[in-house]
Order: sequence, then structure tokens, then C-alpha cells
Amino acid sequence: MSRLKENTAFQCENCQASVEPLTNGSFRNHCPFCLYSKHLDMKPGDRLSECKGLMKPISLDYTGKKGYQIIHECIKCRKIQRNKVASNTIQEDDILSLMIQNASK
Ligand SMILES: [Zn+2]
Ligand SMILES: [Zn+2]
Repeated sequence: MSRLKENTAFQCENCQASVEPLTNGSFRNHCPFCLYSKHLDMKPGDRLSECKGLMKPISLDYTGKKGYQIIHECIKCRKIQRNKVASNTIQEDDILSLMIQNASK
């Protein structure tokens, strides 16, 4: 399977939003509205995981080089994964709401 094929619209399994593919050349693996992702990769981008569990956004990390990253935890197998935040695209990630969510915990 090519990367091109993976970059298609999908429906979020958490909030049912329809998610458009990225327009900035990179490809999307999480929902821009609730920021949930799906456990599809063993290593980022390989799509080899058999888990397919929902991955919950648990926190946000900032590094100078990579910018903001969302930390996801799989609710099935508890694997932690980092994902780049989508920006400069038609549906930007709502990371602000994640920060507010975490601050109010
Ligand atoms: Zn969603
Ligand atoms: Zn998992």
C-alpha cells in the first residue's frame, strides 16, 4: 500500500466527524476535532499494528525542532505514541481545546 492511498478522508471513530486528508503534503492519522487517533502503526507510518484500538490524546509536548506533538495512549494496549500536529491545512488540529481539557483536570 502506498502512502498516497493512505491519505484519504476517513470518519473518526470517536466523534464521527468526517476528516479530510491533509493539504500540506503530510498525511493525517488523527481527528482534528477530538484529536483521537487509531493504533495502526508499530513504527510511525508502517500500518503494521494488529491492535486497531482507539488512541486517546493524553498530553501535548513541544520541542523546538518538531513543534507541537500530541501524545496518544492506546486505550486497548496502552501503547504511547507521539504524533505531529497538523497545521497549515484545511482542518487544523484543535490543540487548544486539548490544552484546556488537560488544564481543567
Ligand atoms: Zn474525532
Ligand atoms: Zn493498541
